[in-house]
Amino acid sequence: MIPSTRQATCRDLEMMLRPMMRYLVLLSILCTPCLSTAQAASPPLLIRDTTIFDTSTGTMLPQRSILIRGDKIAAIGTPQQPLEIPGGATVIDGAGKYVIPGLIDAHVHLVHLADRTHVTGDEFLPLFLAAGVTTVRSAGDAIVAEAGVANFAAANPAHCPRVFLASPLIDRDPPFHRDVGYALTEPAQVAPFVADMAQWNVTTLKIYVGTPRDVGLEVIKQGHRRGMKVTGHLGRYTAQHAAADGIDCLEHIWSVFNYSIPSEVTKNPHHRADLDLNNPKCQQLIELLANRQVAVDPTLVVFRNMIYLHDLDEVQQHPDMKQVPQRMRRYWDSYRAGRNLKPDTRDVRRREIAKYQELTGMLHRAGVPILAGTDTPEPFVPPGFSLHQELEMLVRSGLSPADALIAATINNARILNQEQQLGSIAPGKLADLVILTADPTKEIRNTRKIENVIRSGVVVKPNKLLKLVPRE
Ligand SMILES: [Zn+2]
Repeated sequence: MIPSTRQATCRDLEMMLRPMMRYLVLLSILCTPCLSTAQAASPPLLIRDTTIFDTSTGTMLPQRSILIRGDKIAAIGTPQQPLEIPGGATVIDGAGKYVIPGLIDAHVHLVHLADRTHVTGDEFLPLFLAAGVTTVRSAGDAIVAEAGVANFAAANPAHCPRVFLASPLIDRDPPFHRDVGYALTEPAQVAPFVADMAQWNVTTLKIYVGTPRDVGLEVIKQGHRRGMKVTGHLGRYTAQHAAADGIDCLEHIWSVFNYSIPSEVTKNPHHRADLDLNNPKCQQLIELLANRQVAVDPTLVVFRNMIYLHDLDEVQQHPDMKQVPQRMRRYWDSYRAGRNLKPDTRDVRRREIAKYQELTGMLHRAGVPILAGTDTPEPFVPPGFSLHQELEMLVRSGLSPADALIAATINNARILNQEQQLGSIAPGKLADLVILTADPTKEIRNTRKIENVIRSGVVVKPNKLLKLVPRE
């Protein structure tokens, strides 16, 4: 979200990284046993007599058993229809435990910022899995480099989440972010670009701040033709126009808030912190987003931790910050030193964050699908663990803990076109699960009480995953 000083264009970077990524991919394929081969021989796994989260009702269902064969959920046992324990099955006693679908972070970058953090995506991927985040949705990166990280993740499923790719940030010329932006200034340039993205199996096309309406509309048309979702971190293209044109999703609460401000108040000092969200412009936009079912990914945690309140001890000294490599932490500290936020502006900054949360609650109550995303690894937004901070902020915005869980599971699966495979606990779905020792629908912070993570039917321990992340 901040300008880069890098001068290299997306294409230059691709040319530089292409040979290295091919080598890395080949190496990871050669060095790692194929998961399906490993699983073919693995015994069935049964989680017996546990409580599972039902995303369709937002409730916890007690006395359930989950049978996993290979990488899929084979069956769910109920008191009426109990499961027999298959011969040779590994059994986990689920009594007193709570099983939720693997969490999905709807907004991550695996390449963007690496030039400043000096940490590459493959190094921090285990942090996601350790935090119960079994899937990540890229929200825009240089395509060759992110495909390389995604291939690394696919080859190392016991350490890494599933990765779904996004296009580079579609933008003006020159793009705002020169390292991960891609200039498209004429509608005629869009179709060949989207065809190229299809060859990379991109799930999401990301419109960025400099895209004008005619190009944005063409991105939506071409993306939908190919079954992709289109999202926007908007600037020039208004939320009103993008929603009317059929965009699927808006990134960051700014992409709603910035278009909810009546022109007559913009000269008032602190007009953002003081904004009356019941103003007609805001209410009409909320109604439009609800009618069109445009999903909103507020990423509240990046606004609090990176932009507005990184001078608070509770942000900087949060225990989650200890998990990241020192190289990443040094960049975050240098970012903070460069910003030099002043204590006398803190009250206004806090009130602005409160407005973003108020707007998030209004969107939710109006029926707008809310996603859970973080923008990690932006400063003070630690990979994986920041999703739990986002869930807490969503609950403080007025979502129930169950609704926050729905955002991070089935809603995020839908925006990836993966609701048939991911996002809930049901037979036939991929066995990505998190076993908790306390009920997260009672208290959202219980999502942190992780006993085991199951990724593709394989049980992985958070403590072991954390040891794979470099300290320095
Ligand atoms: Zn982002």
